[in-house]
This record gives sequence, C-alpha cells and structure tokens, in this order.
Amino acid sequence: MKTRLALLLLLFTTPDPGVAAEFRAGAAVGDITPTKWPVFLVGSFSERPADRAWDPLSARALVLDDGRTRLAIVVVDSCLIPRSLFDEAKQQASEATGIRPDHMLMSATHTHSAPASLDRIVAKSSDEYLTVLKGGIVDAITQANANLEPALLGQGQIDVPEHVHNRRWFMKPRGIVPNPFGETTDQVRMNPPRGGDLLDRPAGLVDPQVSFVSVQAVDGRPIALLANYSLHYVGGVPAGGVSSDYFGEFGKQIKQRIAPDDEADPPFVGIMSNGTSGDINNINFRNPQPAKKPLVQIQYVAADVAEKVWQAYKQTEHHKSITLAMAQRELTLGIRRPTDEQLARAKQFLAEPDENKLPRRAKAYARFTLELAEMAPTENLILQAIRIGDVGIAAIPCEVFAEIGLDIKEHSPLKTSFTIELANGWNRYLPTPRQHRLGGYETWLGTNMLEIHASEKIQEVVLDLLRDVSQGVVKIEADSREE
Ligand SMILES: [Zn+2]
Repeated sequence: MKTRLALLLLLFTTPDPGVAAEFRAGAAVGDITPTKWPVFLVGSFSERPADRAWDPLSARALVLDDGRTRLAIVVVDSCLIPRSLFDEAKQQASEATGIRPDHMLMSATHTHSAPASLDRIVAKSSDEYLTVLKGGIVDAITQANANLEPALLGQGQIDVPEHVHNRRWFMKPRGIVPNPFGETTDQVRMNPPRGGDLLDRPAGLVDPQVSFVSVQAVDGRPIALLANYSLHYVGGVPAGGVSSDYFGEFGKQIKQRIAPDDEADPPFVGIMSNGTSGDINNINFRNPQPAKKPLVQIQYVAADVAEKVWQAYKQTEHHKSITLAMAQRELTLGIRRPTDEQLARAKQFLAEPDENKLPRRAKAYARFTLELAEMAPTENLILQAIRIGDVGIAAIPCEVFAEIGLDIKEHSPLKTSFTIELANGWNRYLPTPRQHRLGGYETWLGTNMLEIHASEKIQEVVLDLLRDVSQGVVKIEADSREE
C-alpha cells in the first residue's frame, strides 16, 4: 500500500528536479576530411599547403537526454572555428533534430594540422571545405540523435602530468628578445629555447587532470567516452597533410581498449576535448627530449593518456537516473584597440621593403593591428554550462590559460568540473590580467583581442551558469533564443 502511494506521488509530482526520467545517450562521428586538395593549414605563420590526409578528420558528437533536457556536445578536428560557422551548423542541426541551438556545445580540438575555417593571413579557407566541415558537424549530431538509447553514465578523473608543460617562462637577463612591435618590455617568453641556461621559471600553472564522462548501454555495451585534457596539441605531423593530432589518435586508442569490437552497431565513439591549454604545450623545456620521427610523439601521448583513462575507467561505476541541465548566456566584451602610435608604427613596418630590418614577424602583427582597428568595438561571446549528473562542463570560446580552468574547477558548485575551450567560437587567447602584465605572445595585440579584464568577466558568468545548472534553475536568456 505504501509503495503504491509513493509511486502515485511520484507520478503526480513529475517533473521533479530531483527525479530524472529515463537517461538516454547516442554518439556518432561525422567525416570532415577534405575532399578537394590542396587545402591550406591554419596554426602557423608560414603557408602550409596539404594534398593528403595522414589520418581522417572528424566531428564527434554525443547527444544526451534525461527525459526533460536534450543536449549535444560536438568536438571537431579543427584548429579554431568562428562563431558564425558554429551558429549555422547549430541552426541546421536543430532543424534536423529538434535540439535547441542553445543546447549544443560545439568546440574545436586545436589540431594545428587542419584546413582553415576562416581566412587568416597565410591560410585562406575554401568554400568547398567549409561545406564539408559544416556538413560533417550536422551529420554527427543528426546521427548521434538517431542513435539515442537507454543508457548509464560513469565519470572519473586521473592525473597525467607527464605531457603538460607551461610554455611561458620568466627568463634570465638576455633571455627576452624584441617582440614584433620592436619592444623589449615582455617579462615572459613563449616557447623559449629548450634546455638553455637562460630559462628562469615557468610563468604559469599546468592542469594535469584528465576528466572523462562515459556512457554505456543498459547491457554494458560502451557507447562513448568524452575526455578532457589541457594540452594545446602535440604536433610532429609531417608536412603536406592534414591530421587530427593526438585528439583523433586518443579516440582510436581508447576504442581499442574499451570497445575493441569493430562490429558494434552503432560504433563506440572516443572523444578528446581540449581543456584550458592556452599556455600549455607538450615540450619539456627544462629537460628536452630528443626529436622523434613524425607522428611518433602523437601516438606516444595518445596511447599513454588512453591507457591511464582505461585504468581509471575500469574502476568506474555506471549509474542510471542522471539529471541533465544546460544554460547559455551571451557576454559582450570590449575589443582591444590599437593606439594612434601603434597604428602609425604598423603602417611604417608594412611600408618597409626590407623585412630584415624589422623585428621578427613585424609585418604579420602590423596587419593584425590594422585588422583590430577595423573591428567592431565589442563582441558577443557565447558562454555555457552543462550539468551531467555530478559533472559540470563549462564552455569558453577562447584559448584559455590553465590557471583559469583550475580556478573554475575549484569554485564550481558541482562535484567535479572541467572546461572545454575553443567552444562556440574563437576569440583568441584568454590570459588573466596578471598574465597580461607579464606580456608575451598570448598577450600581443593580434594574437590577443579581448579587453584586459575579459577573463574575470568570463569566469564570473561561467561560475554563475554552473550554479544555475547545479540547482536546476536554468533561465533562458532573451538573446540566446533561436533567431
Ligand atoms: Zn595554438
């Protein structure tokens, strides 16, 4: 009698924020490997044409549903993707699936061996490739949505400090070189010479944590694993081809361990998202390692991270009755403006016929300076938070410094949290105001565009959104509705 009464109460009180209906999950991969060659790779100051793929480029999607909230997370093998392209992909995917655009988190991995998705100085995008890219993202979500099935959720974390190094260093005297503006005011140097005696100490932190969320079918068949690690990329890709870097290789390696059955239908999807790695890379500056053959370091890092995730995964319990929530808010931030003096110097540098007389990369930064002067004075950024059970995920459209990600993890109200960077757009590097004062590559006008206090404003909103999703209070912002 008591149980029947309880059951009735339960029925009449749904939706109850504490009681989740059936949790379902689906995953799929969309192919975004170029179909026409050559393409031009983004992520460097020199022109890099490619006429082949060393490995496929993919958009990997995970769709989750708890009976009240349906959301999609897509991680794309690209260096950076502008908001306009993501917005179009969201609109198309929404028409195909009914998932609201503000319930989609789309991010780029930051492989430096992918075709340009917007025009940069040395790498022009092609309309053909943009169609492939957008189509692959939409396909991945549509298929993942079609693959939804009753599911269980597990989550875990493991520290893998071996592969992450802060790349900004305080230098001994003579260690600071003139920047592209001809100034020697930087206090730190990005990617300094390895192992040299000019190294003093790193200027920032690293986040050694690999976080993961795993979904299984109710019979235990693995559906997908979404991991997050704060490593910019690995590199060591031979010239002339595209590659998903260690992100795609992790997907392959984790599948070999968790779901080796190639016949599984739908197939398991392993996903590595980028955490907060704006000042992190894979170079051990103090004790440099001898150079490896192309692609070897990518395989080494991916296999090691996958092995450690696999060990943690084996201890992970999977549960049903998972609560989901997602919140999005737009934040308007100022764009840094060049001063009259900086503009005059940029024009002077561009007029100089002999580049040897100028500081390194002076002309590239002179063009960036003029470009910034032309931009609208403010930009709207999409910020998001997702709750998956006890796990919080924040999304920021920048290359975020590790210390910001660590701070979000520490202050998030959810039991465990991580940030996916380069999500829903690209607004360049996000240093803290303190790191701005130290100077260096990530703060230079051009590689950096947002106002100096951007990180504080972004962090405040993101923590607010994490609080909202953790309490189930999700307000729909007027400006984030479908257009
Ligand atoms: Zn980069």
